[in-house]
Amino acid sequence: MDFITQNRTLRSGLKLLLALCAMSLLGCSQSDEAGQCMAAVQVPGRQAVIIGIDGLRTDAVNPSLTPFLFQLAASQGLAWGRVDVSNGRTQQTYSAPGWVSVLTASWASKHGIVDNSSAGPIKTQTVFERLQSSKPDSHSFFVTSWRPLYDLVQGRLGDLPKTGHAAFFRRDDAAVEQEVLTSWRACQPDLAFIHLDAVDQAGHHGSFDPSDPGYAAAVQETDSRIRRLWEKAFALPSAQGAMPQRLIIFASDHGGIGNTHGRYSETERWAPFLAISPTGYPPAQIKDLVDIGQAALNFVQ
Ligand SMILES: [Zn+2]
Repeated sequence: MDFITQNRTLRSGLKLLLALCAMSLLGCSQSDEAGQCMAAVQVPGRQAVIIGIDGLRTDAVNPSLTPFLFQLAASQGLAWGRVDVSNGRTQQTYSAPGWVSVLTASWASKHGIVDNSSAGPIKTQTVFERLQSSKPDSHSFFVTSWRPLYDLVQGRLGDLPKTGHAAFFRRDDAAVEQEVLTSWRACQPDLAFIHLDAVDQAGHHGSFDPSDPGYAAAVQETDSRIRRLWEKAFALPSAQGAMPQRLIIFASDHGGIGNTHGRYSETERWAPFLAISPTGYPPAQIKDLVDIGQAALNFVQ
């Protein structure tokens, strides 16, 4: 392509993008939020945090790719487990049904989000709504860089008090990390879901395979990101000097094969998880994907 043609193509491309933005202002925004992460008057005694690592395969959790997460389990005398996100090959291994299963503690046959094109609304209550019903002064925190998940969850959270339940859509995982580091010490929610998407993106770009350099790099970067969240947010006391008893659950929503996922192969349908209960508490009861949100809710209710 010569320079003039290239320039013209670039200009028309830019115009098209601007036109599309004008048609859909929201669709072009790279950050969005609802509710506020208000400083908690009283830091909750118990706190549950779910960290979702999109597209992490079970065999990607190992000492070389995830040194922090691997060590974290070992230091607690725990081993990473795995869950069948396809519910016995009945639920497609896509992110929207998977994460909505985590956040509603129900399978797609109940919540209605069967694939990434399902428009919603989600048919079952989210753990955020159930927490609000049982603890009216509770706070929650939800952050993602994946617009479909933000929109689906927001579709359910519209009626919750804006001062207690904050939802953030951010540009990418770096911006998600920044939001957590900025908000955490003051906000100290009862219940949080932090979604990290870079591993899934790398899988689609290259291959969902720990031997794929791009996928491996994204897994390592995500492990480092979680280390920073741990050290700079979770391990520090609140602004008031309090330290909640914390259940923290790391989970994925599907694996992958080649550069895709959605079906029922072994590498797609199994996803790793790790639940760390505070000292003196019984281990969280997690056998299935839908137990994750329920365990988090049980801990804080
Ligand atoms: Zn994906």
